[in-house]
Amino acid sequence: MGKKISIIGSGFSSLASACYLAKNGYEVTVYEKNSSLGGRARQFSKKGFTFDMGPSWYWMPDVFDKFFNDFGKETKDFYKLKKLNPAYKVYFGENDSISIEDSLEKIKKVFEYEEKGSAKKLEEFISNAKENYSIAVTDLLYKMPGLSPLELITKKTVLKAGSFLSNIRKEVRKRFKNKKLRSILEFPVLFLGAKASNTPAFYNFMNYADFGLGTWQPENGFYDVVQAMVDLGKSFGVKYLTDHEISSINIKNSKVESLTINNSEFESDIVLSGADYAHTETLLSSNYRQYSNKYWSKKTWAPSSLLFYVGFDKKISDVAHHNLFFDTNFDDHAVDIYDKPKWPKDPLFYANFTSKTNSKTAPKGCENGFFLIPLATNLEDNDEFREKYFNIIITRLEKLTNQKLKNNIIFKESFCVNDFIKDYNSYGGNAYGLANTLFQTAFLRPKIKSNKLKNLYFSGQLTVPGPGVPPAIVSGKLVSDLILKDEKVI
Ligand SMILES: Cc1cc2nc3c(=O)[nH]c(=O)nc-3n(C[C@H](O)[C@H](O)[C@H](O)COP(=O)(O)OP(=O)(O)OC[C@H]3O[C@@H](n4cnc5c(N)ncnc54)[C@H](O)[C@@H]3O)c2cc1C
Repeated sequence: MGKKISIIGSGFSSLASACYLAKNGYEVTVYEKNSSLGGRARQFSKKGFTFDMGPSWYWMPDVFDKFFNDFGKETKDFYKLKKLNPAYKVYFGENDSISIEDSLEKIKKVFEYEEKGSAKKLEEFISNAKENYSIAVTDLLYKMPGLSPLELITKKTVLKAGSFLSNIRKEVRKRFKNKKLRSILEFPVLFLGAKASNTPAFYNFMNYADFGLGTWQPENGFYDVVQAMVDLGKSFGVKYLTDHEISSINIKNSKVESLTINNSEFESDIVLSGADYAHTETLLSSNYRQYSNKYWSKKTWAPSSLLFYVGFDKKISDVAHHNLFFDTNFDDHAVDIYDKPKWPKDPLFYANFTSKTNSKTAPKGCENGFFLIPLATNLEDNDEFREKYFNIIITRLEKLTNQKLKNNIIFKESFCVNDFIKDYNSYGGNAYGLANTLFQTAFLRPKIKSNKLKNLYFSGQLTVPGPGVPPAIVSGKLVSDLILKDEKVI
């Protein structure tokens, strides 16, 4: 047997690295504090309804494909994927919505209808976004462990220097006047955790992910991906232990020697933490931590969220699988998230109804609803706030889609700041980690290798490349490559 590697947490970065490391002969054990695997992508079931608890937008299918290809497999060996049409629907008011369909040609028609001359501009914008996507994914993503600023400098990125200095909002507003089109084009950067005005224009590659590559859905939901990665890991001998919370990382002779779980010690040659970075550092005695509380408190955090998982006893009309409710002013909401953190006055929200495209996720004749309101981290969270906001969004949903729903709720479960902290040891209750702003990109993010302990590594949405499932999978690959390099395996 090879050396023992312990992985803390079972989010996507951990699941990915477990596969890469076990394939290279290491004895890998994944320790997860919760009773199910997948981290923020856990699944929740109740009364015949099934919900993906976290991620629901399957974007950048090439990253998932590349992961399975690295093991001589294909995505379709594990789960069926379907391209959604419409990809999503955006509500701007009563009888005022736009459906984004499954091809750029169709989307251009909608743009042209809303703003004369915008189809051509969109084509140019997406062509530039496609070029950036190719640079981001081919030249940067997999070659950027965040160890040096030089990683960012390639012949192609030098030519793109200007797009790191401008921001998405500026570039969108330069080209499009129509408010609705502007907000649709600024929406994808929400996945990166920051405001469009604070996100480098280079990140418009997310617009190519949206309009160019499209929105996909694994047949049984996002949990198919978790299950696939666990099955793959098992085929290489990875052990997955749930209900195993690490309470300390123990050091001897300037090396991590073991992990403590329920007062028992588990020896390890190498430790990799895919749990929230800030939390992992609290498992070390203070002289082995790399980042201070002040460091974390000054970071731009991606939002937390108020989530609802709702079982409805009837079918809901006029909604798609994915729906964005942009009938309020996002700029005001963004101030409440990033600038002056407080509960938002008029929040925008997102809802998905996976039973629209998969009859297995809700009982016959019923609909499952997942609702998300982005919130600032560290907000006071209590039942009264949750109830108040549920009422706000369900009332708006009724009004915008012109139907009664309040008396059709079989159950509703909520999840918010306090649950993110309790369930995931999340800093300030963040949902998506550290935002990808200019000063939190690449080598400016927390490092994937400890500079104090040579056998301690980190992965996940607080490190490189950043928030989101595809970046988390890439993070697992980057850290595995670094471990294998340090071990002189590659
Ligand atoms: C509500 C929501 C919606 C999202 N929507 C999307 C989307 O549509 N598309 C997309 O691409 N991304 C989305 N994301 C982001 C995406 O889910 C995350 O970026 C990604 O899953 C994070 O993976 P990770 O590897 O960082 O680990 P995480 O998922 O953060 O997992 C870390 C794990 O570590 C465990 N842990 C913590 N402390 C300990 C300990 N002491 N001992 C043992 N285990 C521990 C936690 O329980 C957790 O399971 C969403 C996230 C959320 C929360």
